[in-house]
Amino acid sequence: MEFKNDIGYRKETLKKLLYNIQKSEDLIVKALYDDFKKPEFEAVVTETNYVISELKDTIKNLNSWAKPKRVFPSLLNFPSSDYIYKEPYGNVLVIAPWNYPFQLALCPLISAVAAGNRVVLKPSELTPHTSSIITKIIEKTFHISHVEVFEGGVEVSNKLLAQRWDYIFFTGSAPVGKIVAKAAAENLTPVTLELGGKNPCVIDETANLKLAAKRIVWGKFINAGQTCIAPDYVLIQKNMKVNFITFLMEEIVKAYGKKIDKSPDFARIVNTKNWVRLDQMIEKEKVIFGGDTNADKLYISPTLIEEPSLDSAVMKEEIFGPILPILIYETEADIHNVISKYEKPLAFYIFSENKSFAKKLIANYSFGGGCINDTVVHFSNKRLPFGGVGHSGIGAYHGKLSFDIFSHHKAIVKKANWLDLPMRYAPYKDKLASIKRILDWL
Ligand code: NAD
Repeated sequence: MEFKNDIGYRKETLKKLLYNIQKSEDLIVKALYDDFKKPEFEAVVTETNYVISELKDTIKNLNSWAKPKRVFPSLLNFPSSDYIYKEPYGNVLVIAPWNYPFQLALCPLISAVAAGNRVVLKPSELTPHTSSIITKIIEKTFHISHVEVFEGGVEVSNKLLAQRWDYIFFTGSAPVGKIVAKAAAENLTPVTLELGGKNPCVIDETANLKLAAKRIVWGKFINAGQTCIAPDYVLIQKNMKVNFITFLMEEIVKAYGKKIDKSPDFARIVNTKNWVRLDQMIEKEKVIFGGDTNADKLYISPTLIEEPSLDSAVMKEEIFGPILPILIYETEADIHNVISKYEKPLAFYIFSENKSFAKKLIANYSFGGGCINDTVVHFSNKRLPFGGVGHSGIGAYHGKLSFDIFSHHKAIVKKANWLDLPMRYAPYKDKLASIKRILDWL
């Protein structure tokens, strides 16, 4: 149980993890390629390097994050010194998805270990190469009583969920999030649920259209659109649509060339089930760009869909693939009609030079987080909380916040004995007026 109370031990194991990840970086990148042809650049930037940076940051800050934090005492308790102690929850279960299978398994694990917990990780069964290398790295790094990996699918997940945990951290879809929340409720186990949603991308008439197109193409088609915070659909001011579509097409070709299936920079769909789901979303007569598919190669090209009906398959659920519907609006009521049709999204993007328009949208809609004039990049700032709201999730993490969510915050008042004010003790006769005066003054 050294990991519970010994910060030095936690740090040593995290350093060992860092060493083992750095030593295996090429193998991790290869595993990600073998799983769904994740391009090397994306694998390094969004997975291995991201995790390495998280590890370095955690190791560097662990002492200060873990030590009891002194807070300003309340005069009511005078004389006292007051503290928040960070206590490990105990046994933590981390369930990870497949789309960033290394990063989304390792980052919560790192923070849970840093906070002094025992961790069980269930990586995704849909990315077996990555899950296998994760297991090898963890086995090489940690004692089995400290961190353990259970590979497998729904059955394994359900067996783990049937156990009693002190904290569950789940990343995945909203329907499975509900299953996790129900299982956690059995034992009143606290949860973080990192889920998804239909992320709008609103573009008004003041936007820099060319730059917007470039940043949307990047955020939408990185990882072949299989990103929880990818723009799900564009909602653009009617008069801007034609120009914007031209820019989008130019940017897609610039990024991936004319033969996108030959591009080394464009990933594949993770499996046949998801490929079929996405293929069925493509309404041929609405396609204005792309729409090329190959079931054997699990390939779907970047596809633009013009003004689909809100009842069509592509507008019914989170897309989670390289298909971008472009809808138009004329009034703010039109915007509202579309956005309010869906649950609170994980991300929200606004492209506009009009500050009050952007401010209004941020104030009017509830969502996890987002950007003005960019997509996805809010994820990269460790000082920003990352998480959803409503159906897009419960709780948030990243940076110090990740350490905090895996710790119970224990409040301690350390009372001095040199003074003991009589005010609070019975008999209360004649004391109420003075207590009220003090409370009013505070
Ligand atoms: P998923 O919910 O199908 O699976 C996630 C994990 O849950 C996997 O480990 C899987 O084995 C397990 N699981 C699946 N079905 C289960 C069941 N019935 N009972 C118990 N466990 C089960 O999600 P996914 O397909 O791996 O990932 C895609 C979803 O995840 C998208 O909705 C996406 O938006 C979301 N996501 C969210 C974030 C975030 O940070 N908020 C990040 C990545 C993905």
